[in-house]
Amino acid sequence: INRWDLQKLDPAAKVSPPKNAIIFHMEKTVPVNLRPIVRAGIEEWNKAFDKLGFDNAVEVRQQRDEDTWDPEDVNYNTFRWITAEAGFAMGPSRVNPLTGQILDADIIFDASFLRSWKTSYENFTPSAVAALLDLEQPIPTKGPALFGSRRHHHADCRLNEGMQHQSSLAGAVFAAQGLTAKRGELPDEYLQQALKEVVMHEVGHTLGLRHNFRASAWKTLAEMDDPAKANEPTVGSVMDYLPVNIVPAGTKQPVYYTTTLGPYDHWAIEYGYKTVAGDENAELAKIAMRSGESGLDYSTDEDTETNDPDPLSNRFDLSKDPIAHAQRQMALVNSLLPKLLERTVENGEGYQRARQAFGVLIGEYYKSAQFVARFIGGVMVHRDHKGDNQARPPFKTVDAAQQRAAMKQLAEQAFHAPKYDPASLNSLSSTNWRHWGVPRSSLDRAEYPIHKTISDFQEAILGRTLNHLTLSRIQDGEAKAAAGEDVYTLPEHLKSVIESVFSELTAPPAGEFNNRTPYISSFRRALQRTALKRFADIVAKPRQGQPEDARVLTRMYLNELAAKIDAALGKGDLKLDDYTRAHLTDSRLRIKQVLEAETEDFGKPAGGGGGGFFIFGAEAEPRTRNLEAIAPEQP
Ligand SMILES: [Zn+2]
Ligand SMILES: [Zn+2]
Repeated sequence: INRWDLQKLDPAAKVSPPKNAIIFHMEKTVPVNLRPIVRAGIEEWNKAFDKLGFDNAVEVRQQRDEDTWDPEDVNYNTFRWITAEAGFAMGPSRVNPLTGQILDADIIFDASFLRSWKTSYENFTPSAVAALLDLEQPIPTKGPALFGSRRHHHADCRLNEGMQHQSSLAGAVFAAQGLTAKRGELPDEYLQQALKEVVMHEVGHTLGLRHNFRASAWKTLAEMDDPAKANEPTVGSVMDYLPVNIVPAGTKQPVYYTTTLGPYDHWAIEYGYKTVAGDENAELAKIAMRSGESGLDYSTDEDTETNDPDPLSNRFDLSKDPIAHAQRQMALVNSLLPKLLERTVENGEGYQRARQAFGVLIGEYYKSAQFVARFIGGVMVHRDHKGDNQARPPFKTVDAAQQRAAMKQLAEQAFHAPKYDPASLNSLSSTNWRHWGVPRSSLDRAEYPIHKTISDFQEAILGRTLNHLTLSRIQDGEAKAAAGEDVYTLPEHLKSVIESVFSELTAPPAGEFNNRTPYISSFRRALQRTALKRFADIVAKPRQGQPEDARVLTRMYLNELAAKIDAALGKGDLKLDDYTRAHLTDSRLRIKQVLEAETEDFGKPAGGGGGGFFIFGAEAEPRTRNLEAIAPEQP
């Protein structure tokens, strides 16, 4: 931890003011009505310093009109306010590299997130969602991503960007629930809590704290929603990225965001700033020993990248049971989408708010599913040391029951489209502004691309469930389990994915279908094609590191699927529509191609995307028996 040189004025006293307090100068740019909230967010940290015997370690001073100091002056820590949609909140803090002493910190606070509407969300694409949350991208990434694809740098704080999204989500939900008097306006309590939470977070960085993305997994939803506990922290640390907690209509709304420091924050400040009289190392070791205790869980940026295995380490997830939270979010979206149009647009207005709300809500639906998908092949990661209080081993495979529950939820919800009113899609138009200061719209298409949106989201989810890392982790989990322990095996997983994606073939009914109401819907046909491409890659273009068993199992299950397709196509009492018949005939042919194509490179992985060939898609090359002609590049 980098830290300020904070010493007691009277080291012997139990409680003493500091020799030099950490003083934040609040610039006069901060709106007058919001100053008390900003002040409260900064001073909140005194609660942690109080416990260590510091009286007023952190001080806030208001800049006056006659003050002449320069905010860039290294002698002043400043809190500056902008609304540039620049999407950042943390300014540089200057640290002595030899000692880790923090010398100066300036918070440049972008308050754009206090507004609920943002024009660029009119094109809230699956890749934008993935970039925002560092989740699996739909492959290949198509179209301009809203946030670029830059990686999270360890010192980077992108909370504001995400909070902008949360405020848009909150605005969309409130509007669609018919809760706000003026549409799109966020209630005062929301604004106050969101602002205080972001201030606490950014000030936490300037005190030396890093992100803690596991902090939101401390409590259950029921504990967070408990009105009797409204003044208690809902999460272990304000250093997480927190989503807005909105409960379904008819339930009493709890706090939207945590309102106070969590146990992890107190603990980290104790470690960094406690005045130690005797053996400092021994005292620090004693503090660190508590790492296994409830509320102190920690994981940071480098544990929370796309391929990381811990399903509880996420940006903007919520609760000890993210599967339950996802269920709640998906139900919320299903309940709101059908009423969206009437509630978000007033007479005399354009329809852009409906478009934003639709995009943000459908994004919420599949974002929730992506968190669920992370449980499959998931591994809980802990940093406890041997002998710590309540120490856990560094790695623990996610329980088989939980992996199964995750798979079941994907099958029942993520592999289907959310409920929406088809006619409302014809009203999802976007803003037509073109002038300076307004980012150029990046819409590929003016009208809403419903099929592409849903299929891209589902592609990202299938990508997570079927990528080589997930498959290896599942199989490794088998070898790491104790004898007799219930295990989610690779065969169970692959079979579950194939059967849920192609569930229409399990027991096809008798009857007649037509092209207007096809037996397999357009969304499901797209899902099945995407899945078949993934399976083809597993069999014929295995990635380095993919278990060989995944390849041979997939072959076997594809054979079984082919038999089911034959049975459905040949079923006398089932009259299929053209769409379904064409789709199944094509799928059947593709499976045949995959099963025949593979065999030569027996046991030899094609390498991470290099060389190889594509069975489907525009890049398809004919399979050749001439090995030199293939010459895959080996890494
Ligand atoms: Zn941050
Ligand atoms: Zn989290």
